[in-house]
Amino acid sequence: MSRSAHPAGPRHGDVLPEGHYAAPPEDLNALDPKVWARTVVRGEAAEGGALQVGGLDVRALAEEYGTPAFILDEADFRARCRAWREAFASERPGSEGADVYYAGKAFLCRAVVRWLHEEGLSLDVCSGGELAVALAAGMPPERIAFHGNNKTRHELEQAVKAGVGHVVVDSYEEIARLAWAAQQFGVRQRVLIRVTVGVEAHTHEFIATAHEDQKFGLSLTGGQAAEAVRRVLNLDSLELAGIHSHIGSQIFDTAGFEVAARRVVGLLAEIRDEHGVELPEIDLGGGLGIAYTSEDDPREPAEIARSLADIVRRECVAADLTPPRLSVEPGRAIVGPTAFTLYEVGTVKPLEGLRTYVSVDGGMSDNIRTALYDADYSVALASRRSAAEPMLSRVVGKHCESGDIVVRDAFLPADTAPGDLLAVPATGAYCRSMASNYNHALRPPVVAVLDGTSRVLVRRETEEDLLRLDVGH
Ligand SMILES: *Cc1c(COP(=O)(O)O)cnc(C)c1O
Repeated sequence: MSRSAHPAGPRHGDVLPEGHYAAPPEDLNALDPKVWARTVVRGEAAEGGALQVGGLDVRALAEEYGTPAFILDEADFRARCRAWREAFASERPGSEGADVYYAGKAFLCRAVVRWLHEEGLSLDVCSGGELAVALAAGMPPERIAFHGNNKTRHELEQAVKAGVGHVVVDSYEEIARLAWAAQQFGVRQRVLIRVTVGVEAHTHEFIATAHEDQKFGLSLTGGQAAEAVRRVLNLDSLELAGIHSHIGSQIFDTAGFEVAARRVVGLLAEIRDEHGVELPEIDLGGGLGIAYTSEDDPREPAEIARSLADIVRRECVAADLTPPRLSVEPGRAIVGPTAFTLYEVGTVKPLEGLRTYVSVDGGMSDNIRTALYDADYSVALASRRSAAEPMLSRVVGKHCESGDIVVRDAFLPADTAPGDLLAVPATGAYCRSMASNYNHALRPPVVAVLDGTSRVLVRRETEEDLLRLDVGH
């Protein structure tokens, strides 16, 4: 998405094809701390200069767990949880405090749920499967919020029965279905209403009008949000706690959130005027950006917390409302930077006048984001240091699809060869969770590292796993 406009100087005879390329970095062995998990360093040259994470050499990790593998830095994950929680805890728009919900769809397994619980975060789920993982790992149900534009009747019942803290309702039909489910279980279910505020934000820009053409939420300007409020307030089995808005993904600029906050607070004022109730909560969603390449510049949680809390406070003062409890839902911004994918190079194919295709032992089955969103990634030679010239490369997978690209534009050392390990940073979010079995690929494991130890969080799939689903006749 962010693609540099500086053409690179041709290297070792490469004639650059059409397109935009970042200039090769000064030092291909250097690691930009923005894109790597916090404990990643390059080892001493005398020992080969391989990457280390959590005090462990990636060559040893590849030996023990195989490749491809997601390597997740547990200390970094916990530090990011704490940074988000502390940033919002100290920025309370009202006396009610603020909550950080981790968006489980970015990556969820039982160990992650336990870390979230220990670090004081809450959890968003958007399917019965995610709810099952959260409950199996002991997340207190009142700290779970259930999302989705088409939750099934069964999922709504599962959520109510489990006692989830909030169901974020997304349609009139769902309001009726949820009210029925809550009535069956004899509970009063707390809900937020998801609204579309007419803001859509992506990366460095946001568009403040005309983005209501989407499947999520109930329109503010079209009046569906206000109608949903009337319906929920009329149902005894539902308790309206507040309003929810989620405006996009990989956002760096808080201007879009500020417009959303202003419009959500505007709705709270209208609700107060029409119904005489002040709703106690608002949730401004997730979508905070991370650095996939050196060109991305994400903001710190504290800075984001301050600007969101300020705008909510200001708008509430102007509307004469008590500031509500504020929630946010970062997924990518917590888990994204904490993991990298470790691959082994299988083939190196120089295309005269174009670029060199470096094939690794994974691809679109473990990272669909490049094919799906034209996402940019970085890559580093991980198993050793190299003094070779930069070589314009494209890191591709092993699938039967020419769009099977992991890193579209990359500079790797010209001596990159079969058997080398490559590491692609910032793959913690939406890579393992979107992984597929295309070509009957075996989905890679997620290995956590911490203080010189490693352990499998999610094991590698096996051929037996594949055959178990195939009934065979
Ligand atoms: C996907 C999603 C998030 C998390 O988005 P990130 O880009 O991972 O921060 C948060 N809230 C809702 C409702 C979402 O759909």
